[in-house]
Amino acid sequence: MMLDATHDPALRSWVPSAQAPDTDFPIQNLPLGVAAWGDGHVAIVIAIGDQVCDLARARAAGLLDGLDAAVAGALQAPTLNPLVALGRPALTALRGAVSRMLRADTPEGARAHATSALLTAASEVTMRLPVAIGDYTDFYASIDHATNVGSMFRPDQPLLPNYRHVPIGYHGRASSIVPSGTAIRRPQGQVAANPAGPPTFAPTARLDYELEVGVVIGRGNALGAPIPLAEAEQHLAGLVLVNDWSARDMQAWEYQPLGPFLAKNFATTISPWLVTLDALAPYRVAARGRTTEEPAPLPYLTEARDAAHGAFAITLEVWLRSAAMRAAGMPAVRLSRGDFSSMYWTLAQMVTHHASNGCNLQPGDLVASGTVSGPTKDSRGCLLELTWRGAEPITLPSGETRTFLADGDEVTLCGVCEAPGRPRLGFGGCTGIVEGG
Ligand code: CA
Repeated sequence: MMLDATHDPALRSWVPSAQAPDTDFPIQNLPLGVAAWGDGHVAIVIAIGDQVCDLARARAAGLLDGLDAAVAGALQAPTLNPLVALGRPALTALRGAVSRMLRADTPEGARAHATSALLTAASEVTMRLPVAIGDYTDFYASIDHATNVGSMFRPDQPLLPNYRHVPIGYHGRASSIVPSGTAIRRPQGQVAANPAGPPTFAPTARLDYELEVGVVIGRGNALGAPIPLAEAEQHLAGLVLVNDWSARDMQAWEYQPLGPFLAKNFATTISPWLVTLDALAPYRVAARGRTTEEPAPLPYLTEARDAAHGAFAITLEVWLRSAAMRAAGMPAVRLSRGDFSSMYWTLAQMVTHHASNGCNLQPGDLVASGTVSGPTKDSRGCLLELTWRGAEPITLPSGETRTFLADGDEVTLCGVCEAPGRPRLGFGGCTGIVEGG
């Protein structure tokens, strides 16, 4: 993994809140996003502590030295697509310049610190989707999630024969992906109490969340040109948190034989900050290994560096706060805690598999991991698993019980990276409140 001066754990910023021990955005993170101001101004920004910095404005003020014309031009866009399309080296160069601008011990930092109104409080802007997402694909890469869900429907054979060979995925819908904070309307659809039918058309009674991590594609590949696994990470711009809201009763009725459709595409929430591959470099760990009883992946899904460093050590949590808890002033309660490094396939393997037939991925495409669940009950990443299809309700601190989500429930996903001798990095929240349908 390539580490440089931007990863130095000793770096300090002239922005005081970047040193707060619980901030998601110390100077070693520098995630990219798109912010809207109250006066209609929209700009690519970087997060530092509890502030955001308009990068085009910083560049115009002469505070981002050494950027080439292509990167500088891409900073003028209202989305990150032109920037991420330039590939990893462009993001690395931008990260270096931004780090120098925000450091407490550089000439660039001294000039930036003396520049008035360079920063805006994050609470004063509205974060938009960071990229215009052309296509969205959702994988199913947690073997613990696949085993749990499979065992509910096929106790004798939880995992289908293909699972350990092929990264399973389906094409989702990009138009209904929304940024954190967007209200989620409870969808209506066909549901059937009896698996043989007949159905009724009604609001879903089994609304669920799915805790996932998504990767935003940077440089694309040409149609017909697969991506070798050794090159896959050059096509990954950064990661976001993903909540793949799911209507389980609609899903159970519609999923055969072609898989998820309206049970999934009514809304998907993502966190607004793109945490770059560069920022995550110190938190890379070995991919989940295979036991001797498990088949080795086919050669196109096998590569030494991916096996050694292909996973990301991100601790992922789900928090719930009901309307009654908000009214009583009670804080959110944590429902689960898992680790993204437990996935059966790496993001690079998923992307290589996606393009292995020549399918072209494009800048801004979103590729999500599938529900992140671990082997223990407290690491199950959706209510379907946590309540075992509703058979084991959970009790909230308010005394309320849940099998699936109720109107007014606020679901927040969090992701944090920690490593010995390294600062804590976070993704910012990924939140949605359920509204009645
Ligand atoms: Ca999913």
